[in-house]
Amino acid sequence: DLHKVSRALISVSDKTGLIDLGRALADRGIEILSTGGSARALRDEGIAVKDVAEVTEFPEMMDGRVKTLHPRIHGGLLALRDNDAHVEAMTGHGIPEIDLLVVNLYPFEETVAKGADYATCIENIDIGGPAMIRAAAKNHGFVNVVTDVADYEPLLAELDANDGATSYAFRQQLALTAYARTGAYDAAVSTWMAGALGDAAPRRRAFAGELAQTLRYGENPHQAAAFYRDGSDRPGVATATQHQGKELSYNNINDTDAAFELVSEFLPGDGPACAIIKHANPCGVAKGETLLEAYRKAFDCDRTSAFGGIVALNGKLDVETAEAISEIFTEVVIAPGADDAAREIFAKKKNLRLLTTGGMANPAEPGLTFRQVSGGFLVQDKDTGMVGLDELKVVTKRAPTEAEMQDLLFAWKVAKHVKSNAIVYVKDGATVGVGAGQMSRVDSALIAAKKSERMAEALGLSEPLTKGSAVASDAFFPFPDGLLEAAAAGATTVIQPGGSMRDAEVIAAADEAGLAMVFTGMRHFRH
Ligand code: 5GP
Repeated sequence: DLHKVSRALISVSDKTGLIDLGRALADRGIEILSTGGSARALRDEGIAVKDVAEVTEFPEMMDGRVKTLHPRIHGGLLALRDNDAHVEAMTGHGIPEIDLLVVNLYPFEETVAKGADYATCIENIDIGGPAMIRAAAKNHGFVNVVTDVADYEPLLAELDANDGATSYAFRQQLALTAYARTGAYDAAVSTWMAGALGDAAPRRRAFAGELAQTLRYGENPHQAAAFYRDGSDRPGVATATQHQGKELSYNNINDTDAAFELVSEFLPGDGPACAIIKHANPCGVAKGETLLEAYRKAFDCDRTSAFGGIVALNGKLDVETAEAISEIFTEVVIAPGADDAAREIFAKKKNLRLLTTGGMANPAEPGLTFRQVSGGFLVQDKDTGMVGLDELKVVTKRAPTEAEMQDLLFAWKVAKHVKSNAIVYVKDGATVGVGAGQMSRVDSALIAAKKSERMAEALGLSEPLTKGSAVASDAFFPFPDGLLEAAAAGATTVIQPGGSMRDAEVIAAADEAGLAMVFTGMRHFRH
């Protein structure tokens, strides 16, 4: 199954490593065919090349839209070398055998990321490149297809190990990578078009990503895993710079994303904010005059759970905050930036991973979320829902005070990022109890209050932290019981969507308990 490489076709947009590769192939006696820009670059360095136009006897035309789309090229990629009729067709029509195709595509994703106009994006959809890649990959019984600069070195090593030939297994691997590339490329085009046409709903479009990293393992050590990027330039875990610490794990990436997306809800006008995440749920979120204060307040919500957590900040990490975070074991810190002095503090903590994103994510920016089910996956618009003061409807006799209103809105933002059923108690701009992922709302209310009680004991306080708090529920209370649980914990004000059959009963219970309650008219399920 070894097949000797005698002729290569090189057509690359990204010319990284091109000259070294061309020279290495030429040195190994391999004839090189090439397209306009690639041929010119090689020739300028004194490497012998034959123009594709010479083979096709057609000039490249229509601004490069038609370069390699010709039977003399595609025949040379697709012909089965062990099929007499195919070989005869090649000889009869003057088709040169091509054993190696090196192509990387017009930079469509980069063009979109730069914010290019519609016509420019269209012009950057490569046609001939994917056609050749797919042809060569189909014919991997004989043909090598290289679509990634990172495969240049392995290719040369393979040639040298096999006296100028490659093995079938090697060509299969290249073909697999090639189809992943063309698949992701067309998915990027389809996603861009959906955006350009304003078709925000996740319908009729292809989904794919580019392999960013193979991970040591998945959620558990017996699960293989990898991380794919979708080409978005959204600040976050996928685009962040890691300054120190071990490679991120599957769970780290998942939790860091949850942490950064949550803290990004707090816009610059909201002041410094901090979120601490465990298992994708917040165990403390707070605002403060400074990042340090925000961190301390978030930490005090649930010090037990914060151990080994992920910390996200909405401002540049400073020395004081870095010192405070260093006091306990933390897995990951993610922030828009970090002072040099703060980085020095962290440098002493070898296992701590520090990521900087260069900015905050825009919580209103549309996007998609995915969930796998057996036999497929569900796709939906990201939950970008937000409510402002104007949209809140006071439903109780008592209206929330201004301070209560601030805490209600804070609790509501946090509840959006807590697994359902979510109950979040907030006081003075900090969570004081988070109940997540329970199958009944009343249990979430109860668990959050219990945890808060335990925390107050640990802090040596005489009253539970939930005393005088604002409470948010991610969906309506189906019965008064959950609400009454919150009232028993000391909550004085409530925010929830409303819309239950028993709203009247729930409102009456709130009035009786002296609570001030507002409806948002929007729920934030998160499963
Ligand atoms: P070059 O810089 O060598 O002139 O062009 C290289 C690029 O052209 C590569 O990205 C390759 O995928 C692309 N390409 C090769 N053949 C064709 C074709 O027939 N049509 C189009 N649109 N692109 C092509």
